[in-house]
Amino acid sequence: MWNWDQGRLDYFQFDNLKKIARYALAHDLRLTDRAALVAATGLPFLPDDGSYPPWRNYSRVFRLSMICAERGTVSAPTPLATLLASDGGITTDEYFHFLAEATTDPSPALTGWDHSAPLRYPLLFSLKFMLARAAIGVPTSDISEIIAAYNVSGFTGDEDQTDFITLINAGHDTPAGDRKSAGYRQSAESIQVIAQISYLSLDRRRVTVSLSNEDALNLFEQLSPITGQPLPGGADEVFRLTALFQSATSALELDYATTAVSDIEDSGFSAATTFAEGAKSRKTHLVIERNGKIREAFFKANPSAVCDFCGTDTSASYPWTSRILDVHHLLPLCSGARTSKQGTLLDDLVAVCPTCHRGVHRYYDGWLKGSGQKDFLDADQAKLVYNEAKQKYGAA
Ligand SMILES: [Zn+2]
Ligand SMILES: [Zn+2]
Repeated sequence: MWNWDQGRLDYFQFDNLKKIARYALAHDLRLTDRAALVAATGLPFLPDDGSYPPWRNYSRVFRLSMICAERGTVSAPTPLATLLASDGGITTDEYFHFLAEATTDPSPALTGWDHSAPLRYPLLFSLKFMLARAAIGVPTSDISEIIAAYNVSGFTGDEDQTDFITLINAGHDTPAGDRKSAGYRQSAESIQVIAQISYLSLDRRRVTVSLSNEDALNLFEQLSPITGQPLPGGADEVFRLTALFQSATSALELDYATTAVSDIEDSGFSAATTFAEGAKSRKTHLVIERNGKIREAFFKANPSAVCDFCGTDTSASYPWTSRILDVHHLLPLCSGARTSKQGTLLDDLVAVCPTCHRGVHRYYDGWLKGSGQKDFLDADQAKLVYNEAKQKYGAA
């Protein structure tokens, strides 16, 4: 099992990491007091106790997310923090794919870093395990199976598809008794963190890949460890890895061609900007909206046929069908689907009829263009703009 942090899933949410990164560019996370950090991020950073600076309880979040690393007695933001803090600088998918390719066991972000130890890539292994299964038509993996396969196989994560298929067919699972250990729970939480990738969805212990077999295989083949000569100092190594972000992702083609994004033009998602980052953000957003498992879970929890925007009951207008509704993702365009211990959160989704959906995205485009932004700043702003459109033009 690999070391991570456990019980801090909220702090690893992409939107929250962006807020922490913005703060880290202006303040030293190691020295910061709690009140200022709480005010800037809206996160609780408990306990509320003057004798416990946030660094004491949350430094693993800051370091494992590669937002900062120690430089002598202070902490300094990494190049990745600069990207996270910028408007549209990095999408959820780019960030979590990079984290998977750069996270090692042992980790330079944690104490006891030994740069000469053989490195394994547990998150890359997990992602490739899930993609290899999806490529052979088994889209769902149990987290306990992934962790057991990692432990039994000794794989680094860089093995090819044949190796993974052999491992998958062997069918390993973690015994129920071993799932209570702190090490297991840390490993499980790190997989829940990367479940924010747009084509993944989490249902308690199970992660589902919503990609065609071809896209899953294509992505599997593109993923590889961030390599080079590891540096002796853990912090230096974190800075080395985060400086490699650009070259890492320019090679990764996050297009999921056959799955979801062929009708960006049609959705009203093209007019506002010619920025490449804007286009990448929109793709992530649309992949979440087309994620079959998320859609299924949403309508299971909200079995209505009424459009949230115009109030049309689509089952009455089209009585030969149960509903004609799209799932719209309210969060900023570059945000992933947030996860909790229970699974992928559905509170950031609304059901709208296809016409309203197109209209809402055109409204977003116009709003962003008018305010000179490439993306919404955060979830609150995105929800505000949706509600503004709904109040002005939607159902009373
Ligand atoms: Zn509607
Ligand atoms: Zn939408």
